[in-house]
Amino acid sequence: MSGVRITTGSPDETEQLGAAIGSLLRPGSFLALRGDLGGGKTCLTRGVVASLAPQSSGLVASPTYAIMNSYPGSTPVYHFDFYRLTCEDDIAELGFEEYFYGDGVCVVEWSERLAGLLPSDILTLLFEYAGDDRRTITITSSGQKSDAVLEQLAAKLRQ
Ligand code: ADP
Ligand code: MG
Repeated sequence: MSGVRITTGSPDETEQLGAAIGSLLRPGSFLALRGDLGGGKTCLTRGVVASLAPQSSGLVASPTYAIMNSYPGSTPVYHFDFYRLTCEDDIAELGFEEYFYGDGVCVVEWSERLAGLLPSDILTLLFEYAGDDRRTITITSSGQKSDAVLEQLAAKLRQ
């Protein structure tokens, strides 16, 4: 499947898209978020957490300083932000890879910084400005598990 492109008209809509995606994810799922600052990556993460770890919803903030925030829930969500890290070796030394193949869902802002550490089966979401309150989000997949999630999402959005 080639991808899904959606333009949201408000932060709420982006959060709802995150919740719709979250409801399709399983432990081990990986969302690679890319695109400009203010594109809506943290906003969408809020929706993912609301659907998978509702006990923790409302707590989602940018982990720019912490690098990783974890949100406990029936499926825990590990929220990373690699904005401040530029070198793949630094990131490898932090030992986060065990989370990428663990019991939870990983949502990773500035995933492009991971380069070779990126898992192969991932959903990639690109955030682009499309006006004041509009953001275009393009979702693509690689790997069998993520391809299946993207198919399900496309079907859900057609409803
Ligand atoms: P990022 O994590 O990509 O840097 P954030 O989610 O922290 O971006 O911030 C997005 C900003 O853009 C917020 O201030 C939000 O209110 C605003 N915004 C306006 N329209 C939208 C939209 N359609 N989707 C998401 N955020 C939006
Ligand atoms: Mg952010």
